[in-house]
Amino acid sequence: MKLSLRIICLLCYCACFKGYSQDIVKPVYSLAKRIVDTLAAPGMHGRGYVNDGDKIAANYIKQQFAELGLKSFRDDYFQPFTFSVNTFPGKMEFGYIFQNKKELETFEGVAGRNFIVAPDAPSINGLYPTIVFDSSYTTSPSKFEKFRKKIKSDGVFVIIDDRGVTNKQKLEYFKKVKNGYFGTHIIEPVSKLTWSVSQEVAKYVKIQVLADSFSFRAKGNVAINIENKFVESHATQNVIGYIEGSERPDSFIVFSAHYDHLGQMGSNVYFPGANDNASGCAMLLNLVNHYSKPRSRPRYSVVFIAFAGEEAGLLGSKHYTENPLFPMRKIRFLINTDIMGTGDEGITVVNGSVFKKEFDALVEINKQKEYLKEVKIRGKAANSDHYHFSEKGVNAIFIYTMGGIKAYHDIYDKAETLPLNKFEDVFYLILKFMDYLQH
Ligand SMILES: [Zn+2]
Repeated sequence: MKLSLRIICLLCYCACFKGYSQDIVKPVYSLAKRIVDTLAAPGMHGRGYVNDGDKIAANYIKQQFAELGLKSFRDDYFQPFTFSVNTFPGKMEFGYIFQNKKELETFEGVAGRNFIVAPDAPSINGLYPTIVFDSSYTTSPSKFEKFRKKIKSDGVFVIIDDRGVTNKQKLEYFKKVKNGYFGTHIIEPVSKLTWSVSQEVAKYVKIQVLADSFSFRAKGNVAINIENKFVESHATQNVIGYIEGSERPDSFIVFSAHYDHLGQMGSNVYFPGANDNASGCAMLLNLVNHYSKPRSRPRYSVVFIAFAGEEAGLLGSKHYTENPLFPMRKIRFLINTDIMGTGDEGITVVNGSVFKKEFDALVEINKQKEYLKEVKIRGKAANSDHYHFSEKGVNAIFIYTMGGIKAYHDIYDKAETLPLNKFEDVFYLILKFMDYLQH
């Protein structure tokens, strides 16, 4: 009787262990995975400006803060603010019909896959002739001017053919062209499609096509139908909560990560933003989960901020630093995390050379614990939400992971393919670094 019971228990143990090994062995990873899956799901609409994507994401984070018992500085975790943004809630069609020898051929645009529209594009609908600009027009300033004069109206698309362009002078011409020198619409073949967000609307449309699938640069006609909607005052919010410190409640350590991404390009295509920056939110919420447990209550007060509007120009952190909820000089240190999904090549620490003492401590912890391949130093850079803080004199660093998958600001930055393989190592490195900061 006893023996058989033991056998059953052992079997049961094995089955449970196998079936839920991720949850038992890797709670930090499991929570991160769940958060990334949720924030990068289609229902979040790319956490941008179509279908209330950023609002849905903010509500999800707010709910997590509440469930984990964070305090709020005001009645709510939300810090509302507004900004202008160009959005694409509707039509997103682009095709190209051209003459190939004697045949008529077509290029069928598939939004996000083989073309993107410049984020500042206005609406456009119709059939437009094309004209090819190639390196033969860049051999002298007069040839360049001659081409410019060829463009009689703004109702034409210039196809930029920069194949074989190597010398410096030519590159200068192409730079001018990309900056709207021709005063008309442009098609630019590129090797990778990388989208972003604009707060303005341009006069002309620029389409980037994937050079691989656009192997022709021939005269033809563009068929295009794109609908933009400029939102003068988009209402959004930072999400902010904190845990009161047990010994130094009026000194603060701040963790931050932006939760917004690029949103939608047309009614059917969304940018999931799994690595950028659902993964940073997963780090933020894992830290909330850890420090909200009574046994790991921090000595300093710890503030958690999920910023909005980062992709539109670090707008959430700018708004916060202009409207802080407690005195900025009380911040002992700020750690911003953005792009936490890989780490095969280690991490980079922006502002590492500015806060060298803390950076050295981080390197030393990593060396002792053998978490990551490298902790790389970098100087100042306005490339994430730490920036406005350090510009205002706050000790602030920004950590991002290196190596692994290359998806960035494209439709392939998905939860399914985000490895999160060094996520736990980065998490424990940050915990140890927190111990150092609180000494
Ligand atoms: Zn980002």
